[in-house]
Amino acid sequence: MPTLQYTSVMKKRLSQRAVLMLQASLRHFPELRDKTITVGYTRAHLGSAIREQLIIRLRVRKLCYNTIGHELTHLVQGAGGIPEGEKQCDIWTLARSPLFCDDAPTYLKLPSQLRTNWPQYAILVRELCMQAIELRKIRRNYIQWLERELSRLGKEQPQRMGQMSFAF
Ligand SMILES: [Zn+2]
Repeated sequence: MPTLQYTSVMKKRLSQRAVLMLQASLRHFPELRDKTITVGYTRAHLGSAIREQLIIRLRVRKLCYNTIGHELTHLVQGAGGIPEGEKQCDIWTLARSPLFCDDAPTYLKLPSQLRTNWPQYAILVRELCMQAIELRKIRRNYIQWLERELSRLGKEQPQRMGQMSFAF
């Protein structure tokens, strides 16, 4: 496991829940094993990351795995076949584990139907992200492809979706 250290501001804010979520998230990042990651605090809805210093900043209230996963993915971007960029970060985060599918991604263009009913669509979106990653090996426009598929998914008939059960 990587070592986690917290900034003094974060220490004051930190909850047991957030610590457990961070530990659970890090299990899905073998690349960060043996590293020391600094976790800082932000009030902002969006977190942030500084790769060179292995720092991430998170809010504590309403913290979700998707945000933690997104910021940790920033720390490993540029290596292991993970390209730079925010949309790329979203795609590789969702694909990494169902754990990071508890909330909708920020930067990927999602139809409102998917954003509003995210739990119903999360696993399907994750599958499309994994397909997009495969597609990237042969096509440069895999993000456009993905966003087109997401837009199509948003137009599908609700009764088809109704047959799916999805729970965390
Ligand atoms: Zn980001």
